[in-house]
Amino acid sequence: MSFFEAKKIKKSYENLPALQEFSLCLNRGEFLSIVGESGSGKSTLLRILAGLEVQDSGNVFLNQEEILNPKKKLVPGYDEVKLIHQDYHLLPNSTVAENIRRPLLHYDKKYAKVREEKLLQQFGLKDFRDRLPRQLSGGQQQKVAIAAALAIEPEVLLLDEPFSSLDTIQKHRLIDELGNLFQTSKTTVIFVTHDLDDALRLTDNLIILRNGAVVQKGNSFELCTQPQSQYVARLFSHINAIPGEKNEFIRPNEVKLRSKAGLLGHVVDLRFLVHFNSLQIKLKESGQVWEVDDPLRKYQVGDRVYLQWEKEKVMQLLS
Ligand code: ADP
Repeated sequence: MSFFEAKKIKKSYENLPALQEFSLCLNRGEFLSIVGESGSGKSTLLRILAGLEVQDSGNVFLNQEEILNPKKKLVPGYDEVKLIHQDYHLLPNSTVAENIRRPLLHYDKKYAKVREEKLLQQFGLKDFRDRLPRQLSGGQQQKVAIAAALAIEPEVLLLDEPFSSLDTIQKHRLIDELGNLFQTSKTTVIFVTHDLDDALRLTDNLIILRNGAVVQKGNSFELCTQPQSQYVARLFSHINAIPGEKNEFIRPNEVKLRSKAGLLGHVVDLRFLVHFNSLQIKLKESGQVWEVDDPLRKYQVGDRVYLQWEKEKVMQLLS
């Protein structure tokens, strides 16, 4: 049996399924991201994994012990499984150090002091120890919240969209820092997000959730190069349907732009992006509009262009 395991979890709200036989297995120290749109069941799942919500059926085990839900346990939740969400509140009138120390109130004083110092050090918060939450950036506040959650050394950390309120630069910096931290602390982490890019930055191990069911799991390379559905393929980029071929698709970065031979079209729109121009190309014969990357920024609106691609790059996607 794995370190942390969920077996066939089902949950409905008023007869509408929120989770459909969801299962997962994690080894100690493993990271997993669960990616799904809003409403796909991510928060419900994490609350059940943390023992904070009653599932209809299925079980959760940590270290072979069942995580009991609030129906079966007087005080819901576990110190071993910590859930953090976006609006996790810090105590506004307590300093950074006090916020981090708070979960350790009933612990041995010496141990509490050692943990506090270690976390301030690990999270790069030493210089901010006497500041109040409002004197910190959003990213720093979120770091304090996560440091506080780690104070009592939980076995599993569940992160529910913890970066949603941060701007992109803050978010990427925090994700990088946390990735390194979790690796050294050997914490088992499940991160749920609607943002595939955030997930890829933190982990290589992914589950794609849709309508409460797992649609695919694997590492990022597998999911990107061998998606089993159009839905998963589209999470990584736009896909172009190949005319005349029912289930064949190609990504914008796999299409080559040529001055002769291939599928003829003309450029109808162009967007200047950081690494390439993104072209909208109207195909002459079918009238379809394709999205194609132009990394050399060679083509302009109105240009005629021929499209080619390698057979191996074509994705067969039945659904
Ligand atoms: P996510 O975190 O992916 O946005 P949620 O787990 O919050 O998804 O919600 C999954 C589904 O369950 C949604 O359709 C949502 O409307 C529904 N849901 C969640 N919580 C409740 C609740 N307390 N009562 C009724 N429906 C709920």
